[in-house]
Amino acid sequence: MSHKAPSKHYRKGISLIEIFRMFPDDATAEKWFTDVRWPDGVHCPHCGSDNVQTGAKHKTMPLRCRNYKECGRKFSVKTETVMEGSNLGYRVWAVATFLLTTSLKSISSTKLHQDLGVTQTTAWHLAYRIRNSFEEDDQNFNGVVEADESTLVGLKRICIGIRN
Ligand SMILES: [Zn+2]
Repeated sequence: MSHKAPSKHYRKGISLIEIFRMFPDDATAEKWFTDVRWPDGVHCPHCGSDNVQTGAKHKTMPLRCRNYKECGRKFSVKTETVMEGSNLGYRVWAVATFLLTTSLKSISSTKLHQDLGVTQTTAWHLAYRIRNSFEEDDQNFNGVVEADESTLVGLKRICIGIRN
């Protein structure tokens, strides 16, 4: 299994600066979410086709299904995840996810608000959505602290909260 997700970093004590270094910009974070969600290549969330055009010139939906006859819809890595409908950048989502997964459930939305420079309301919503996806699979959530290859499957659900 080859992936670029830096699983060795998932452990207690990761510093904020290390997390920011891992996600220097939105593009890096978007790629990370894409690799975690689709380790075997991008699939259309609507019809499941793996014939997908990437890098379309669309501000929020850079992916397009090439199954034109039956689907042909535009989407992004946010589609059908807890990030759906959010205007927040991928970097904010990635950093928030890391903070929440590596600090267990102790991190407050006030701290998130300060660390990420987003509003209190935004911080609350981020924490709420991410925690909700944890609770859907608490066993996997607990595994994150001692993460290794086997928890990547759990992370896939936790980090992007893929809905079934
Ligand atoms: Zn499709």
